[in-house]
Amino acid sequence: MTGDVFDIDDVAFSNIAPSREPCSSARCTIQPITSEEVTAFQAEAARLELHSDPKCRLLGATMRDQLPNVQIFDKAIVRYVGAYTFYGAGYSYQTNGEWRIGVARRFDDLNPRTVADETRTLRHEMAHTLGARERRTSAEWSARDFADRCE
Ligand SMILES: [Zn+2]
Repeated sequence: MTGDVFDIDDVAFSNIAPSREPCSSARCTIQPITSEEVTAFQAEAARLELHSDPKCRLLGATMRDQLPNVQIFDKAIVRYVGAYTFYGAGYSYQTNGEWRIGVARRFDDLNPRTVADETRTLRHEMAHTLGARERRTSAEWSARDFADRCE
């Protein structure tokens, strides 16, 4: 890989606050979710629902409810900011009251992501559906906190 890799939307995406389908241009393409991904995501939701931390249990319940709204897209959405390259590996946005949660399957043609990578992105993006922000504010967990602390 060249450039810095952010395996979450973070700078790459959320600051641009998608309010609509981010793959509508030539940047990325929605792909069918595989049974391996479905199985992994269901297992992750079940694991989180038994987590010792109530915030992670809430994340798990939300993940279970929102799994039908998860979209897999083919490659990370690349943004160039100064000398840096950012790979936006996830997104979440609401349209007509429904959430859409996107997870990238690859960084680019040469660099695949594992299902574990995808699952981490899923935790991060699901946290946004609970109102978590990109950066921690006081005692509120950021989306990254959910991704890290519910591991
Ligand atoms: Zn985020």
